[in-house]
Amino acid sequence: MRRRTRAKKNFLLIKLSLTMIILLSLSRVGVMAVTSKVNTVNITLSNGYTLTVFTNKTNVAEILKDNNILVSDDEKVIPSENENITDDNTIKISNKSKQEVEVAKVSESGVESNLEDLLSAYSTITEKIVTEKEDIPYKTVKKDVSDGASSTKNVVIQKGKNGIKEVTYKVKYQNDTEIEKNKVSEKVVKKPTDKIVQVNSDVVTSRSSTTTRDTVSTNNSSSKSSDSGSVVICKVTAYCSCPLCCGKGATGRTASGTRATAGRTVATSSKYSFGTKLLINGKEYIVEDRGGAIQGNRIDIYMNSHSSALAFGVKYLPVQVEK
Ligand SMILES: [Zn+2]
Repeated sequence: MRRRTRAKKNFLLIKLSLTMIILLSLSRVGVMAVTSKVNTVNITLSNGYTLTVFTNKTNVAEILKDNNILVSDDEKVIPSENENITDDNTIKISNKSKQEVEVAKVSESGVESNLEDLLSAYSTITEKIVTEKEDIPYKTVKKDVSDGASSTKNVVIQKGKNGIKEVTYKVKYQNDTEIEKNKVSEKVVKKPTDKIVQVNSDVVTSRSSTTTRDTVSTNNSSSKSSDSGSVVICKVTAYCSCPLCCGKGATGRTASGTRATAGRTVATSSKYSFGTKLLINGKEYIVEDRGGAIQGNRIDIYMNSHSSALAFGVKYLPVQVEK
């Protein structure tokens, strides 16, 4: 029983294969017939000119090649070159828009980004001229009264007032976001009013009068004749607690026993006793240290690092003894 079935099966298989071969050869004839069919294809060029060609090809690139039509980088083809022509037998070549050209360039350069990013990069950048009002901070000026005024307190004789300036900027925006701001010009609308403080500096006068020889330069403007002698221009340098500044075994302790502190400690000659408050360029310091090389009106300001001391260099600054 088994044998017979097998024989029958074999016969069926042979019959099937034969049918398939016949069918296959038939279909191949059919395919060949289609490919050899001549198509009339209209090709519209980017300049609007349309030509009609006869071809047995269906691939767009092949049809264009056969007709010696070159598509340049800034042109696009519909359907695209790797496709086949569609039922309406038309190939349209047109100019790419500027954006399409840029996108193509970027994708060629291998930059991976989505189209949205690319398009936003080409969104227009707007430029505006913007004028803003800004404050000009007032200065505090100390006016010395050395005419033996009895008051020892500092008195504000004129209140300070900020000035105003108009600053013009050129601002670049992209999608309403500020991306660049450059100052173009500046105009003072209102000058600031100095804050004037009247100070009693009889002490300063008496001290500095004995040291005129050491004074590098005095504030001797004729209009401030009463000031001359009270504010002394001193040669100011800076130092730190390193061996270079203070020699081997530097401890950070000052000659007066305090811990040297930046922004407070200064070293002077013995002309100023420890604890004397000095206004150097308007900032208050305390005489806490001495230095062998410091003579007369030389002042050394303590700083945290040697580099900042070096950076300070040598300055000639107005120095005033505070009561
Ligand atoms: Zn140092």
